[in-house]
Amino acid sequence: MVRHDILQLLAAHPEEFVSGERISQQLNVTRAAIWKQIKALKEEGFEIEGQTKNGYRLLKMSLSLNEWALQQTLSTTSLGRTIYLEDELSSTNIRAKELARRGGVHGLTVLARYQSGGQGRLQRQWESPRGGLWMSVVLRPDLSLADASKLTLATSVAIVDALKELFQLRIGIKWPNDLVYNGQKLAGILGEVVGEWNTVQTLILGMGINANFPRGCLSEPLNATTLYEILGYKVDLNSLAAVILKYLEKELISLEGRAFERLRLSWLERADGLGEEVRILRGEQVFQGIFKGITIDGALLLETEDGEKSFSAGEVQLRSKIRKYF
Ligand code: ADP
Repeated sequence: MVRHDILQLLAAHPEEFVSGERISQQLNVTRAAIWKQIKALKEEGFEIEGQTKNGYRLLKMSLSLNEWALQQTLSTTSLGRTIYLEDELSSTNIRAKELARRGGVHGLTVLARYQSGGQGRLQRQWESPRGGLWMSVVLRPDLSLADASKLTLATSVAIVDALKELFQLRIGIKWPNDLVYNGQKLAGILGEVVGEWNTVQTLILGMGINANFPRGCLSEPLNATTLYEILGYKVDLNSLAAVILKYLEKELISLEGRAFERLRLSWLERADGLGEEVRILRGEQVFQGIFKGITIDGALLLETEDGEKSFSAGEVQLRSKIRKYF
C-alpha cells in the first residue's frame, strides 16, 4: 500500500525532511499521489510537516488505529500478524466469525475504529464510540472445547497486564470477565466458538476497551469509565493493541501447555470483590454468600449457609451486597 510505504520512508528518517522527489522516485508514484496520501495520513492523525522546498517530515505518529503503526509495535509470533482494519463495522466479532469461516488464519485480528452494533454477552449491546479499541482475534488453539472457556479468563489477565505495563494502572477483573476501575466498567470481553468445535476448533475472542473518549460519549445509565477519564490524555491505540496481543499470546501458550492452575491463580490475583459478600442471580433465584474464588474452569465459588456452591458464567449474574456498582 502506497500510504504505508510513504509512512515507512518518513519514519525511517525521523525529524528529517524527505523530499517529494525522493519519495516519488523510490516508490514510483507521482507528486500528486504523494500529496494525496499525505493528506489522508494527516486526517488519520499523523502529524506531518510539508515544505515546498524540503519535502515532508513525520513529527508525530497517529494515536488512532493504523495497520502499519500497529505492525511496527507488534512483538508477537502469531497474534495480530494478519490485521483486518475497517473504519466502521457492525461488530468486530461478527466480521471475525465470517473471516474464520472463510479460512482466516490463527491470530487474524479484526479491528474497527467504530462499531455500529457492538455486542456484549447474551445479545446485549456494547456501546462502541470512536476512540475505543474494538478488537477481535481468531484463535485455533490446541485446546479442548472444555478448556476453551479458559481463554476468556486468559484475556482478562492479558488486558490487566497490558494496562499495567503501559500506564501503571491497576485494573480489577469483575467475574466473569469485565474489567473495572474503581468499580466502573472499563472493558468487556466476548468469547465465541465458531461452528462445531470438533471439526473446526475455532474461537473468536472479542474485546472492547473504552479508551480515547470521555465518559460522556457513553449513555448515561452505564456504570462505565474510560482510559481518557482515568489518565487525562489520549493513548496510542496501536501500542495498546500490540501489548494486549503480546500478553494474550503469552497466556495462550501457557494454556496450551496446560498451565491451568497458573492461570487460575493469575486471575485470582487480579480479581475484584474476593472475600466479599455477594449475591448471585440465576433467573428468579437469588443466592447469597461470600465470593471465595473460582474453579479451574472459571466457575464462581460461593460460600453460602448451605455450604459451597459453584456457578458457571453462562447462567448467572453477580451483584455486590456492599458496593452498589457491582
Ligand atoms: P455484563 O457485565 O452484564 O456481563 P456484558 O459483558 O455482556 O455485560 O456487556 C454488556 C453490558 O455492558 C451492557 O448491557 C451495558 O450495560 C454495558 N455496556 C455497554 N457498552 C459499554 C461500554 N462501552 N462500557 C461499559 N459498559 C458498557
